[in-house]
Amino acid sequence: MAIERTLSIIKPDAVAKNVIGKIYSRFETNGLKIVASKMAWLSAQEAGQFYAVHKERPFFKDLVDFMISGPVMIQVLEGENAIAKNRELMGATDPKKADPGTIRADFAESIDANAVHGSDGADTAAVEIGFFFPGMNVFSGR
Ligand code: ADP
Ligand code: MG
Repeated sequence: MAIERTLSIIKPDAVAKNVIGKIYSRFETNGLKIVASKMAWLSAQEAGQFYAVHKERPFFKDLVDFMISGPVMIQVLEGENAIAKNRELMGATDPKKADPGTIRADFAESIDANAVHGSDGADTAAVEIGFFFPGMNVFSGR
């Protein structure tokens, strides 16, 4: 299995709930290492650019408005199969459909306010890591 890196964001709802530590603990106890992190309050331009792939979707404006409603915690996670592992820990996009014990089942309220973002593939992980951590490579170099 390969060591991968993936981009994770703790969204404004979960930051406001004061559960950054609890979510970090999920990563750490499941073999994902936090290798970069920063807190940021995104501008509409940054959030729109980050979610550009969704710009034609009906929920795009609500998504951007939500992502700029408060600070977010952005991190790069590293570990065996980090991309899929993080998606597994996150649970389904709609928290009502998320498996018990997942981050979204435990900390999210709705499909809009769903606690976390995670890259969905190797290509998006590379783009998203570069977007928030310019110069950081998707490969660990180990
Ligand atoms: P995920 O975050 O699980 O990768 P997507 O990439 O499909 O999900 O969508 C990005 C984000 O857009 C979701 O996390 C969610 O906040 C929002 N979103 C997705 N689908 C909907 C929807 N049908 N209604 C409202 N918001 C949505
Ligand atoms: Mg996605």
